[in-house]
Amino acid sequence: MKDTTKKSQISERRKFFTNIAHNAGLGVMGGLLWAGYADKAKGSTLTLRPPGALKEEDFLSACIKCGLCAEACVNRPSNINKQTGKPRPGTLKMAKAKDDVTIGTPFFIAADIPCYMCEDIPCVPVCPTGALDIASLTNKDSELDFRLMDMGIAVVDPNSCIAFWGIQCDACYRACPLMDEAIKLEYDRNERTGKHAFLKPVIVMDVCTGCGLCEKACVTEKPAIFIQPREIALGKPGDHYVKGWDSKDEQRAVSQEVKDVTTKTERSEQGAADYLNEGVDFE
Ligand code: SF4
Ligand code: SF4
Repeated sequence: MKDTTKKSQISERRKFFTNIAHNAGLGVMGGLLWAGYADKAKGSTLTLRPPGALKEEDFLSACIKCGLCAEACVNRPSNINKQTGKPRPGTLKMAKAKDDVTIGTPFFIAADIPCYMCEDIPCVPVCPTGALDIASLTNKDSELDFRLMDMGIAVVDPNSCIAFWGIQCDACYRACPLMDEAIKLEYDRNERTGKHAFLKPVIVMDVCTGCGLCEKACVTEKPAIFIQPREIALGKPGDHYVKGWDSKDEQRAVSQEVKDVTTKTERSEQGAADYLNEGVDFE
């Protein structure tokens, strides 16, 4: 009788510790899942947002995830399939848990469905919070202007773009709604053969809107031209570097205080002529 009681006490204790271990395991697993969810909730820095979107941090605070922009995109008259009378899938999607984008927020994947740069930009005026900023797309004549869109910038990978191999291809150039403005074809001579020409696509940074029609049109297996958010694709020289040949840029430097400049490496006290001629014996 005594033994049975002891056994049952031991078994109860075992159960107790097993439960603790089990719950701790679930806790760890829950923690891992939550960390994964939080990452998803945060989303990728490579996300392409709808036209007129505020800077990512401000956009995330302002967007209430109502989906009106995506609804306007899919239901725009130009997206209706004339044969079926039904809308095709829209450019803008609302992020789900499986997407690497903050859940519930609108985004697009240029290689799947690019932005068609609608003249009336129907996705923007419907935004109730200003997360899509109509003022940023309004020109000086108070009209909505798709040229002011800035969803990202096209980047060309010269290693996989076949135009850089000398093969004639201008698919991206022709697909661009701002043809010969946002993408130019730069002529170059093929030094290897001596008789062929290159016509290389070059992006004009200030004009490209990041619509992604070029990425969609690219003929290579994985697009050699693709859209990235400007913050990711572009560097930043710092305000103290000035384009001496550009009067606008010179004015910019004059109009702002370029003092107390900190550079990554120590600035030389020498003038350029001293520096370049250092160690040269002129005698
Ligand atoms: S401008 Fe682009 S994102 Fe907006 S409705 Fe048109 S296709 Fe959709
Ligand atoms: S309409 Fe505006 S608030 Fe609503 S989901 Fe689109 S961006 Fe967010």
